[in-house]
This record gives sequence, structure tokens and C-alpha cells, in this order.
Amino acid sequence: MNGNPLSPTPPPDGPVRPSVPIVRCGPGSQYRVRALVLSEEVHGFNTHYSGRTVPCLDSTGECELCEQRRAIRWLGYVHATDPIHRVKRFLLEFTPGVMPDIQRYVDQYRTLRGAWVELTRAKAHPTSRLVVNLVPFRECPPGELPVAGDVRQDLWRIWSGSFSERKDGDGDRPDLSVVA
Ligand SMILES: [Zn+2]
Repeated sequence: MNGNPLSPTPPPDGPVRPSVPIVRCGPGSQYRVRALVLSEEVHGFNTHYSGRTVPCLDSTGECELCEQRRAIRWLGYVHATDPIHRVKRFLLEFTPGVMPDIQRYVDQYRTLRGAWVELTRAKAHPTSRLVVNLVPFRECPPGELPVAGDVRQDLWRIWSGSFSERKDGDGDRPDLSVVA
């Protein structure tokens, strides 16, 4: 038809879920991440590193990566947004080393929601010690902050792809269990 190759296409079936990326303090962020935390608390999970971060399925009694004696790494996640535009939502990743500082903040302010967080590394290297700075974000009343999403659900969406690589697609996807 008069040489126009575009054909109108209806939207795909099913609910469209915006993808929520994981943000780490690393080379991709030039070793400095600033974020406004939306979650009340940190959601922690045991993971393995196998080219990328994947959940440990030890709670199901069959974690291939545990059987291969791969090291377990605990990682904590919160929903966060950028403090300026407060539009983009992402999962911010914490290591065990910053948890004492985070706990001190929670003890003082009773929630992480509304904390302005800056993550840096002691040295510009992906495995260098993570350093956190937290202060209450004063520029927006807590009631006006965007709602926090379900961290476990969003991680599942990101991580569930790893199961088709690790299991024979029996469809039995184990639940992520939160590690306190
Ligand atoms: Zn495991």
C-alpha cells in the first residue's frame, strides 16, 4: 500500500508490567548511587553468583548451586526512586556490610521509607567495600512519596528466568524465601 511498510499492531495480551531494574553501586553507576528509599525495610535473600546473581533455592531442598558448593551471598533489596523526579522505580541492592548502618537508621527513624541514601565504594572496584550514607529526605513529606512495590515479586520477575536454565522446566517454581 503506497510503499508504507508500517502495519498497525494491537498491544500484547496480558497485563503490562513495567520492569523494575536492579541498581547496584558499581562501574555502571560510576560507584555512586543516590536514591530515595520507598520500602519500609530491607528484604534480604541468599543468592549465588553464577555469571549473574541468582537466588539460592536451598529452602526447597534442591539448590544445584549449593550442591556445586558455590558460595552463598546475602543481598538486601529495597524499592527506591530518584530523589529529583521520583518517577523511575528501581530495586536498590545492599550488601551485608552496610546493614549495621541501615539498622541504626531504622532504629532511629523507625522506617527506611523516606531515607535519602547514597551508596559509594571505598575504592572504584566492583568488589570494594560498599559504604552507605543515610539521611531523612526533607524535600517531600512521607505521605507524598510514591508507593513502594512488592520487592519479592519484582525480584521474582527478574530472577525466575534463571530457573528455566537451571531446571528442566517442570513448571514447579519454588517460592523465594526471605532471609532476615
Ligand atoms: Zn543455594
